[in-house]
Amino acid sequence: MALTSWNDSIRFTSLRLERLLVFLNKAFPKIREGAVAMRKVFIGDMTREEFRKMMETARVAVIPTGSTEQHGPHLPMKTDLAIVTYVVSKAAEELYPQVIVVPPIAIGYSPYHLCYPGTISLRHETLIEIVMDICRSLRHHGFLKIAIVNGHGGNGAPSQLAARRAREELGLKMVVVSYWSLIPREILDAVLETKIVPGHACEFETSIGYVVFPNLISSDVPKRRKPPSILPGFVWNIDELTTNGYEGDPSLATKEKGEKLIQAAVEGLKSLLQEFINL
Ligand SMILES: [Zn+2]
Repeated sequence: MALTSWNDSIRFTSLRLERLLVFLNKAFPKIREGAVAMRKVFIGDMTREEFRKMMETARVAVIPTGSTEQHGPHLPMKTDLAIVTYVVSKAAEELYPQVIVVPPIAIGYSPYHLCYPGTISLRHETLIEIVMDICRSLRHHGFLKIAIVNGHGGNGAPSQLAARRAREELGLKMVVVSYWSLIPREILDAVLETKIVPGHACEFETSIGYVVFPNLISSDVPKRRKPPSILPGFVWNIDELTTNGYEGDPSLATKEKGEKLIQAAVEGLKSLLQEFINL
């Protein structure tokens, strides 16, 4: 009898504690954000000893791939890099300490954007070799599962080739995914008026930009302009596909749309990485 009431009393106390934590989380979201921010997931932020400790629990390493390329007259060159880094960091923090993130690759395969100033492009073979060298280093430290999370369309084919080579030559388990492909179609359809995903510097990327780098967006966000017609299958440069280096209608972008899109991308990546960890 005494034992039962002791157990009841513990259950009652832990229930109250749980309710208190739920209340604190709701009342002071900064406390939770602060706790999450303490979770170091980027290798570059860790000391050697912190990395060694993470190796005891980390099962997947993520390589984020971005670009440095023109994004119309209104978005910064680092748009793809900033968005993919944001999505990867949020998902990895949620999965802490099971996921480690290497420094994002800031320059991608963007020869078709060189027609506008500011774009810096790697050759596709350079990008593949960079990814392979990162994979070799991670393999050396004991990682057997690597996810390439991509933020730029042009990196798609080179990332696929690099992942295939890493599997064949290094015996690694690999995942390659572009962050926008993780957002459920029904969310994209409900949020986007233009329905263009990911497009380029359009409603989609500009909306997410309002969440990730609001201070870097120019006040002259352009409206839709009629795109030039182009032969199906033609290997285009961006100035042949668009009138001013952007697609769709960036003027339809809002922060609210961006929040829904990026939250769905983070959730999608979190689920995918969790499944990969369990594989
Ligand atoms: Zn982009």
